[in-house]
Amino acid sequence: MKKYVFGADLGGTTVKLGFFRTDGALLNQWEIPTVKEEGGRQIIPDIGKSLLAFMQRENIPMEEVEGIGLDVPGAVSREGLVLTGVNIGWEGEKDAASELSAITDLPVVCANDANAAALGEQWMGSGKNTENLIMVTLGTGVGAGVIIGGRILAGAHGSAGEVGHTALFPELQEKCGCGNTGCFEQLCSARGMMRTAAKYAPSGSIDGVPLEKLNPKEIFTAAGKGNTLCAEIVAEYAANLGRGLAVFASILDPEVILIGGGISHAGEALLIPVREAYRKHVFYPAADTPIIRASLGNNAGIYGCARLVLTQR
Ligand SMILES: [Zn+2]
Repeated sequence: MKKYVFGADLGGTTVKLGFFRTDGALLNQWEIPTVKEEGGRQIIPDIGKSLLAFMQRENIPMEEVEGIGLDVPGAVSREGLVLTGVNIGWEGEKDAASELSAITDLPVVCANDANAAALGEQWMGSGKNTENLIMVTLGTGVGAGVIIGGRILAGAHGSAGEVGHTALFPELQEKCGCGNTGCFEQLCSARGMMRTAAKYAPSGSIDGVPLEKLNPKEIFTAAGKGNTLCAEIVAEYAANLGRGLAVFASILDPEVILIGGGISHAGEALLIPVREAYRKHVFYPAADTPIIRASLGNNAGIYGCARLVLTQR
């Protein structure tokens, strides 16, 4: 194996770039803006230029670099073709890997961003020393990635592991962003938690504070201080989340389930009731599967991208 590898985590506002040793040590990292104008056509050239400039400045010989891993906020086929990249201006299918490879003269492997984050955690984060895991990121939406045998599970349409859009809650009437109703994400994202809060506070406020001025963090804090209404909201949120994880684990039987994203900062206040709900619903052989916090935070993507080049080629 060569000495170095790059990871490029392409997001809606910035591209995070990481320079790694192939043993997993992160040696350098920086960011460049994601220029979405003109159908996002500058994005890949910008990444290429930034990496080439870095190699020149740091005197990194091309022969010592394994390649570049690239992730995108969209569906990616098993072959690495970007199927949808609407958040970054791309339309139709795009062979971003070949484009970046042509600019840099290095091998490039491309994957979905949530899948890359899961691979990063499996390589150097909370999933280290496991081969099979599910990672669920609880943010504005719910992102997820599935790693089986140390590799990303992409699926036939690049949508394997999109647990956010499993139709778990038939009682919901409102449409999800995906067009369906009843999606896991509708109750288990940060926005979903506020939806549950609205159900418990029909007046539109908790202790005089309007719901639109509250966020999940404040609900957890208030629940911890003994606010009964907030404790009920947390309990229902955790019950829904645990039930969902039980369904996913009953199908995939991972070694560990990782929880990332803003809401995961609630820590054990979230995870204890989630584990309880999980045990209640999961198929019994998987009852003791650990449910723990992801540990790489916003860097999971660049780690996963670097790992892509080493495992998915
Ligand atoms: Zn949906």
